[in-house]
Amino acid sequence: MKSKNVCGLCGRGTLSRAVIPYTSKVSYDGKLITVNVEKMPVLKCDSCNEVLLTNESDDCITEALRKERRLLAPEEIRKRRLELRLTQKQLADMLGAAEATISRWETGGLIQSKAMDRWLRAYFAFPETRMGLELLRDDPSFGLSDVSCVVAEEMSIEMQVYEKHDRTEIGAVAEAFHRKAYPVNRIRHFNDSQVDH
Ligand SMILES: [Zn+2]
Repeated sequence: MKSKNVCGLCGRGTLSRAVIPYTSKVSYDGKLITVNVEKMPVLKCDSCNEVLLTNESDDCITEALRKERRLLAPEEIRKRRLELRLTQKQLADMLGAAEATISRWETGGLIQSKAMDRWLRAYFAFPETRMGLELLRDDPSFGLSDVSCVVAEEMSIEMQVYEKHDRTEIGAVAEAFHRKAYPVNRIRHFNDSQVDH
């Protein structure tokens, strides 16, 4: 058993568990981020002082990176998705991501980009964002100008009511709202809101 713990570098010393402060440069979002871990579990040689990183070390670096970049943790993404009664596929469709991507975010196998993190937070925070994304499916001009606050507020109220019920109804609500809103021009673009109807 002991032979497995012989240092590969010097061949004499023994590797044993140690906790050290560790600084690492991690590639994230196309940039190199400096990450500091105060208490890093590693394997260390008692002869040459060679340090060996383990899976546990990798997890610590990942966690420090999330903290440094202020990213949602895997369990936070999962918790909020479940609170909104969304399947991974439904959330993926809304964000324009792949279902497997959501799954990997939630297990920690993949770290979301900063852009996706902000997107997730806005989606989780505002019923208006969620309703807006439902409308986006049918309206090619969505996002080209502001939607009036009144409509956004109405959308928000409907969304809150329906999110408390059955998630599968939300799409139908959005569609009905869309049909109701557009013919009578109730979704008014920002510039139009100055003009009387
Ligand atoms: Zn050694």
